[in-house]
Amino acid sequence: MPTILVIDDSKLIAHVAKNILTKQGHEVLLAQDGETGLDIARDKKPDLILLDLVLPGMDGYGICERIKNDSTIKDIPIIMLTSKAEHADKVRGLELGASDYVTKPFDEGELRARVNTHLRIKELYESVQEKNRLLLEMANRDGLTGLYNHRYFQETIAKDFKKALRYNESLACVMFDIDHFKKFNDTYGHPVGDIVLKTLSELVKNLMRDSDLAARYGGEEFVLILYHTEANDAYDIAERLRKTVEQHKFQAEDLVLSVNISIGVACYYHPDIQDAKTLIECADKALYRAKEEGRNRVVAFWEIQPANTTENTS
Ligand SMILES: [Mg+2]
Repeated sequence: MPTILVIDDSKLIAHVAKNILTKQGHEVLLAQDGETGLDIARDKKPDLILLDLVLPGMDGYGICERIKNDSTIKDIPIIMLTSKAEHADKVRGLELGASDYVTKPFDEGELRARVNTHLRIKELYESVQEKNRLLLEMANRDGLTGLYNHRYFQETIAKDFKKALRYNESLACVMFDIDHFKKFNDTYGHPVGDIVLKTLSELVKNLMRDSDLAARYGGEEFVLILYHTEANDAYDIAERLRKTVEQHKFQAEDLVLSVNISIGVACYYHPDIQDAKTLIECADKALYRAKEEGRNRVVAFWEIQPANTTENTS
């Protein structure tokens, strides 16, 4: 049931408006001055506001401006209540952000029609916004696993690395991939391979803190960004992930499969790491080393290249 706030100091006008709108099935809230109206608007977030222009204290224009400057209520449509003679006033109100006006005394049909029109526009506007939000979300996600995709990961880590530099915060990158993944696809077929990828992604989601970011880097390769995370903690998180995957029974069709992952961890602060690209490369180097050393293990970049024995890697 839509809620409509009527801000008018005339009890008669407010009463008439309330009668008309209540008959329509709307819930009606009343305020006799602007300040009270603003408080109710912020508190109850009505779907529409009928606003008298001539009010005690702050007038309708002032109230209109304040509503339009308050991000929490600025999208609520405002219909001004004006008397017949006030043409210039209507224009001024519309310029301040009101959606429409209705002249007093009301024509019942007109009030009803204008209110319904603006309620419908608001509803459409909200559904378009929701669809845009969903589209944006989908554009950032990997279709199979629901994790973030490569592009979103790259954009985010570039931004967040700069932030980490500026505020001197630690930032860890954990890169991992599934050991001998090809065999799942080759032996059991791609649908089974997909189930393995999806199941692994679920394990990752369950293990992650809400503040961290998980993305599918490509194929069977994944990456995490861990915020405000020191090297040793990043290592522990990676090791916990490795163990969880090792112990999990992956169910695909009528198969129960064992899956292992190899993990590389890199962390800022490290003297060799001064940008996001290098952070990713260092995690990748550590992952490569984990593969070389026999897989199903975690290798930290700072172990293969300790900070105090920095060599020129270029
Ligand atoms: Mg008045």
